[in-house]
Amino acid sequence: MPLIELNKISRYYGEGDTLVKALDGIDLKIDQGEIVALLGPSGSGKTTLLNTIAALDIPTEGTYSFDGSEVPMGKVEPMTSFRRENIGYIFQFFNLLADLTALENVLLVQDLAGSRDSEKAIQLLETVGLKGLENRFPSQMSGGQRQRVAIARSLAKSPRLILGDELTGNLDSETSAIVMDALIKTCR
Ligand code: ADP
Ligand code: MG
Repeated sequence: MPLIELNKISRYYGEGDTLVKALDGIDLKIDQGEIVALLGPSGSGKTTLLNTIAALDIPTEGTYSFDGSEVPMGKVEPMTSFRRENIGYIFQFFNLLADLTALENVLLVQDLAGSRDSEKAIQLLETVGLKGLENRFPSQMSGGQRQRVAIARSLAKSPRLILGDELTGNLDSETSAIVMDALIKTCR
């Protein structure tokens, strides 16, 4: 059974002359353990698709199963708990909390999930190559270091699925390679 199964997913914005078919009948299966890259020009619907998989957005049509169960669509609370239990999300612009240190950013996610584990948080920061930087604030770190904190944070509650939306889009190519290596290594 695939981890993710999308059936005929569509997401339309606007209507009439302003109708945009961001997604139009997408079928997609992804198995557990797979690493999938989604490529396409700007405006081709990548973010819309990721947001659908994260249950951040509600498709106009179609069904979505995660690990064999249909994902609740339409009601905020079940979508939020689905996301909290299963999904880690990494954004292009890090989205770290500026008033919290690297370690505190990771711990916050565990606290929200009701399961603080500081040993694991420290271990995750070490795995992404940030040993010794646990107490730095985001403003005291480079873009690549911040994105590695975001990776550690996305893994803090052991999600079934990590989604990254242009997560290296804001980094130079050398730093992108370091960040992607850290991501794949930490996931494995
Ligand atoms: P990508 O991430 O590949 O750049 P998006 O998923 O952001 O593409 O956008 C796909 C299409 O949907 C684009 O044409 C975009 O303008 C449109 N779109 C995205 N979000 C909205 C929205 N909230 N309202 C109207 N149109 C939108
Ligand atoms: Mg996008």
